[in-house]
Amino acid sequence: MHDLHCHTNLSACAKRESTLSVMLGALKSAGVTVAGIANHLWDAAVPGSSGWYAPQNVEHVRSIRAEYDALSPEERSGIKLYFGCETEYVGQGRVALKEENAPLFDFVLVPPHHFHMKDFVRPAELEDAAKVRKLMFERFLECCAIPFVFGLAHPLTVLGYPGRIDEILSGFRDDEYRELFGAAAETGKSVEINICSLFQEIRRDGDGLPAEYVRMMTIARECNCRFHLGSDAHDTARLAKERFEYALRFAEKCGIVLPEDPLRRER
Ligand SMILES: [Zn+2]
Ligand SMILES: [Zn+2]
Repeated sequence: MHDLHCHTNLSACAKRESTLSVMLGALKSAGVTVAGIANHLWDAAVPGSSGWYAPQNVEHVRSIRAEYDALSPEERSGIKLYFGCETEYVGQGRVALKEENAPLFDFVLVPPHHFHMKDFVRPAELEDAAKVRKLMFERFLECCAIPFVFGLAHPLTVLGYPGRIDEILSGFRDDEYRELFGAAAETGKSVEINICSLFQEIRRDGDGLPAEYVRMMTIARECNCRFHLGSDAHDTARLAKERFEYALRFAEKCGIVLPEDPLRRER
């Protein structure tokens, strides 16, 4: 099993005790054999950073390699590691990583909808569900068009609208999902099965799985998208084995077969 979206304490929002060593131990305990570290990144070469993002630049995120080199052979054994990043997208084609710096990472994830970052990623006054969906739709397509992006982090996950997730997602028509995931398939972007998203406050079917995400990702599979699994863990609790098992059950329900190593054919 793989996990291509794991944070460490290099991300400002992660728990301070979430060192690479601690997270690797938890990943291995959960049965993960291929992991991608994807800390939050804003490349200093791209203007418009927020105060929160500014220290999380290319050098900072890449310092994970030195941290890895300092680990013991035992800590490094039993898991294949990739060094990536989760950069940012704020609209109008503005992605927080310069194309020429993208090869410094094994893979690049882009979040099309970090809408919890009000007045930065989305206007604070954006509240109407149809308008939220319209912006999510546009941003998804724009992120598919970024050439150096490997995968979409938590695509179509509703962030920043607590208590309104089902309301917003249920308004997406199947044909709209088909257009979006058709674009992801065409541009080769890997669609993330984000484990944190599956545990949001959202309606569940009789089998306990989140109904709107099942509808969404079943359509993504019908569109022949490629997929990867991402815990989005910022601490070891989010790497609990049960959470991965739940995600695998979700993927199975959607008919998705996850690859052993999603990056292998990239290399
Ligand atoms: Zn974070
Ligand atoms: Zn994210």
